[in-house]
Amino acid sequence: MIQDNLALVRQNITDTAVRSGRKAQDITLVCVTKEAAIEQIRQAIACGVSDIGENRVQDAVKKYDVLGRLVKWHLIGHLQANKVKKAVEIFDLIHSVDSVNLAEAISKEAAKINKVQNILIQANISGEKTKFGIKPEETLSLINNILPLNNIKVLGLMTIAPLVSDPENARKYFRSLKELTDANNLDVLSMGMSNDYKIAIEEGATMVRIGSTIFK
Ligand SMILES: *Cc1c(COP(=O)(O)O)cnc(C)c1O
Repeated sequence: MIQDNLALVRQNITDTAVRSGRKAQDITLVCVTKEAAIEQIRQAIACGVSDIGENRVQDAVKKYDVLGRLVKWHLIGHLQANKVKKAVEIFDLIHSVDSVNLAEAISKEAAKINKVQNILIQANISGEKTKFGIKPEETLSLINNILPLNNIKVLGLMTIAPLVSDPENARKYFRSLKELTDANNLDVLSMGMSNDYKIAIEEGATMVRIGSTIFK
């Protein structure tokens, strides 16, 4: 049941936050709906979900057409140049910016609709070749290149930890991203998925992106 699954996730978020000397309100649950049908998303919203995450712009468009601004929309997957216009129309926060070209395209489209698009920079902390994201040491220069753009604002960083059998092994990646976030004076830290969100919260996540545990 979605209701029970959500209740458990929320309880875990609260317990982990408190145990780490943090407040539950400081952690946003982004409910990842890429595998969920509209009816399931409606159920989640009825249980108080306010933020949903989608990987693909095309999928989000279909759901947005039905649900509209009932929720905040997060793009958590890679953004292709030809999808920027649509993405800027829909998403409250784009988690996956990893190049100045993409940032320029976002700012340009956002300007056309008088929007300042909030974004996160995706960092590839683990260095895995299969993952999108910039090298951690390039973060500062990307932020500096985005600064002069008028219609885009960097709120923080995002990462995807490697899939490991013991989530404890993801801890070092989360810790590195937290250090990088602090070093750049940013507030938002999007990290942690179904299998590793408790570790991510212990290491400072302010947004966790959880799908399969809710919609299983
Ligand atoms: C699918 C996905 C999630 C959610 O993963 P679950 O294991 O289903 O919780 C989070 N972040 C990104 C980038 C994803 O693609």
